[in-house]
Amino acid sequence: MSTDLTTSQNQRIRELGGTIDKTIIFSTIDDRDLYFQEQVKSLQSRNRQRILETMDGSQRNSLASLESDLSNVLITRGFTEVKTPMIISASSLTKMGIADGHPLLNQVFWVTPKKCMRPMLAPNLYYIMRHLSRTVCTVKLFEIGPCFRKESKGSNHLEEFTMLNLVELAPEREAMEALRDDAQTVMDVAGLQYKLVVEESEVYGRTLDVEVDGVEVASGAIGPLPMDEAHGIDEPWAGIGFGLERILMLMKNQSNIKSVARSLIYLNGARIDI
Ligand code: ATP
Ligand code: MG
Repeated sequence: MSTDLTTSQNQRIRELGGTIDKTIIFSTIDDRDLYFQEQVKSLQSRNRQRILETMDGSQRNSLASLESDLSNVLITRGFTEVKTPMIISASSLTKMGIADGHPLLNQVFWVTPKKCMRPMLAPNLYYIMRHLSRTVCTVKLFEIGPCFRKESKGSNHLEEFTMLNLVELAPEREAMEALRDDAQTVMDVAGLQYKLVVEESEVYGRTLDVEVDGVEVASGAIGPLPMDEAHGIDEPWAGIGFGLERILMLMKNQSNIKSVARSLIYLNGARIDI
């Protein structure tokens, strides 16, 4: 007779950040349980070590640290940082073309019938961009902040995640060139190799996506687009939105995005409920 780890044993090993070696088969249940206990012990000690490293003050929260590294670099590149409301109006989604029948509408968390938690940063950035363009010719803006979407998909999706969205209105170079440069700037901070891939989008029609090992970390677009009219914009622009937890997950070689997200259970990737 031979036996595998049980479902709950597999789950516990994954929770503690371990990987399952599918090639190991046990000849008795006692052998299996002994192996499981040893794995758990060693993973618990690795988690404890990581907790101690974080708590001795030498490591910042990795999401906060990535946010500040990105802000610092973007500011030196001439971008202005904004912080805008997380609760937005239904009409600002309508201006993005997200109205009855649009798939993203099913993912929205409503606060009241006319207000929701923002699923993206673009509506607010459009608003600010239009007003600032009355004062300056080229507007370079970015925001880093939480976005909210109801999700049913697995290990790359969170219901609250952190987006970095940057935009250049009337860039001094061609919009596509600006988009490529901006993607490069962010990915240099992350230190990740990436590919640019053209994808279809429910909001922007077509996007230029940044992918790392086949995982989408950002979607970029250039304007003018038909929805610009509703926002009072009529000049070329380049904009791109990155998911910071997706980037962190790849930077840290994690298989599940939850370990790098806002969490009650993880502290810098280590589980605290050990
Ligand atoms: P996906 O196809 O992976 O669901 P998307 O194309 O719907 O993503 P966008 O609207 O393009 O996402 O958002 C820009 C970026 O924000 C994505 O490239 C991704 O990095 C990040 N992102 C989007 N949704 C989520 C989510 N639910 N959890 C974590 N990150 C997300
Ligand atoms: Mg996308």
